[in-house]
Amino acid sequence: MSLIETARRLDALGFMPSKSGNVSIRIEGGFRITPSGLPYAMLTDADLVDVALDGTILAGARGPSSEWRLHAEIYAARPAAGAIVHTHSPRATALSCARRGLPAFHYMIALAGGDDIPCSAYATFGTAALAEAAVRAIEGRRACLLANHGVVALGSSLAAAETLAREVENLAGEFLDLLAAGLAPVLLTAEEMAAVTAQFGGYGRLA
Ligand code: 13P
Ligand code: ZN
Repeated sequence: MSLIETARRLDALGFMPSKSGNVSIRIEGGFRITPSGLPYAMLTDADLVDVALDGTILAGARGPSSEWRLHAEIYAARPAAGAIVHTHSPRATALSCARRGLPAFHYMIALAGGDDIPCSAYATFGTAALAEAAVRAIEGRRACLLANHGVVALGSSLAAAETLAREVENLAGEFLDLLAAGLAPVLLTAEEMAAVTAQFGGYGRLA
């Protein structure tokens, strides 16, 4: 499954408005990432950029995504990450603008690796400060929200990262619907979430 197909699929879902978002996979010595600012519809493999973890361009004629530091810092901090998806998917982004993460209101929160999906501190897009804030927020998890910005999800594969980014949006929508209905979520306890994680182990969904 290619980076471009993944980016186009997420774009078609409305997760990448105004050519936002970016997608990468880990390669030997760094990662391959979508270029900055180019509409996904016009991308070809020649537009992808290979970047070392220190930012050195290894291959490619285009400028890498402005969020290359975000991807680089997550790959450096998380050796098991094989792919990273960053979106501005609308419901999760709305929640991020309240600087609120998702609590354990639904068992599928466990797909992100813990009892919540945190929201990072705010920092300007494309900066080292945002990369640092994201690494902190995603610690012990496979996804987090970026304050007033969007979503980051990682996975062992591109398919896993995409699936998680899509589930984060689904969960954010459910959570906002619940709040909009004036209902107070009943949160799952730590024990209940531990049981979900154990059940997922057998179910094979957390790879
Ligand atoms: P790029 O087009 O540079 O990847 O930036 C999109 C984005 O989402 C910035 O946060
Ligand atoms: Zn962004």
